[in-house]
Formats: sequence, structure tokens, C-alpha cells
Amino acid sequence: MPEGDTIHHAAKRVRGALVGSQIESIETPNPRHRLDRWPERLGGREVRSVDAHGKHLFLRFEGDLTLHSHLRMGGKWGVYRQGERWKRAHRRAWLVIRTRSHEVVQFDGPVLELMTESRSRFDQRLAALGPDILADELDEGGFLRRLREDDPTRGIGEALLDQRNLAGIGNIWKSESCFLAGVDPWRKTGAVSDDDALAIVRGARPLMQASAERGGHITTFEGDRPGATWVYERQGLPCRRCQTIIRARGQGDDNRTTFWCPGCQE
Ligand SMILES: [Zn+2]
Repeated sequence: MPEGDTIHHAAKRVRGALVGSQIESIETPNPRHRLDRWPERLGGREVRSVDAHGKHLFLRFEGDLTLHSHLRMGGKWGVYRQGERWKRAHRRAWLVIRTRSHEVVQFDGPVLELMTESRSRFDQRLAALGPDILADELDEGGFLRRLREDDPTRGIGEALLDQRNLAGIGNIWKSESCFLAGVDPWRKTGAVSDDDALAIVRGARPLMQASAERGGHITTFEGDRPGATWVYERQGLPCRRCQTIIRARGQGDDNRTTFWCPGCQE
């Protein structure tokens, strides 16, 4: 599932392709959007800005219209030079925006909606999002306040995935950031000190920023190939730090798998 770093990277690429360029065409090949008349409604407008908040991406057009996208489990943004081969099948494209030089494509997008700027600001789901871990200035106070208002009996790993506490962390960063801070993801949130909660976030943020810069090639374990992790998907293998066997188990209402080292994390 694409996490905040992947979405911020996509926003940067989409921004580079669209902002300041004349839009030649907009297509919505998926039948679900056939009646939405986006090509007519967006025709002739320029893209003013492209930004991300957590895992949400916003294309802001001239004239108060914003396209909101969330990729959920399997969606993807593609940015291609004109004539370059797409990395997914054409029938999987939900949105295609063309300029003279680029094609910007959203594939398999389960959430794709056009809204006015003011609705995007007051939309309840969007307004409920916690501070973005990749914001230019991280709102640590806002994160802690939301975390303390959350159910204190929830494991911290589950609380980190809740986008109302903090936006942008997904399953990979949940496991890796708890490892880096030495915090057991099963520890109840009420028993996690502010210092420990901030250590988790401060550990993840620079790595996610680097990943957003590079394009989602997550490397948390230095000195290994790109994509190497400390605990994520390493269940049954010895910990790279202490040799204890890494464990994995589903956590929370959504039963998302959490990976941790019982030797390093408490
Ligand atoms: Zn360990």
C-alpha cells in the first residue's frame, strides 16, 4: 500500500509535469466517471498546484476545482513523457491528463473525486486527518494531543496507522519506526510516554523525507540494498541488531500485520 512518502513523491512528479503547462486533454476512461463530465468541467483550466497530505493527493485547478485522490491498496500515479510506455495496462487508467510533453495517469484509483476548493477544506474525512508527518513543519503538539484523545488501551502500532492521529504512516513505516525507537508496537498507547511517541515520529520522518525525495525506495537498514528493512517482512529471521527472531502478527481492527523484535523493543 502506498504510504505518505510515495504519495509526496508522486505529488512532486505530477506537479513538475502539470503546473505551468497548458493542459491539452483530460480523459476519464473508467465507466464509473463517464457521467461526471470532467473533461468539460476542467477543460481549458490550468493546474495551479499539486499537494499531498498524508496519503491524499490534491490537484488544484484554476477556478476553485480540486481533484482529490487516494490510492488505497493498489492504485498508482504514473508520470510519463509523451510517447513513453505506461507501466500498467491502459484499461486500468482512471484519469489521463495530457500536456504537450507529458501524460499523467492515475491507475486503479478507488478514490478520485472532483470537488470545489471550499468543500475540500470542509470535507469531514479530510478535515479529520491528523498532522502530516511529511509537512514542512511537523506539528508535534497536534500529534500528541490527538494521540492522547485516542483510546489509551490501543496498541501504539495501531494508533500510528490511524490517520486521524498522524497522516502518512502505513504498515511499513509503522513497524520500522517502532523498531527504530525501541518501542514495542503492542505497548498500550496510554503507557507510551510523549518522549517515546515523539521518538517514533522523529525517527521515521527523515527516512520518509529521503524516500519521498528518492521515489519510495525505502532503506531503513543502512549499508544494505535499497528497500532493506529492520523488521518489516523479516518474520522468522534473526534481528540485524540482536539476533532475536523477528515476529509478525495481525494488529488492530483491520488486522494489519505488525513486525517487531522482542529483543530490541519493549
Ligand atoms: Zn533485536
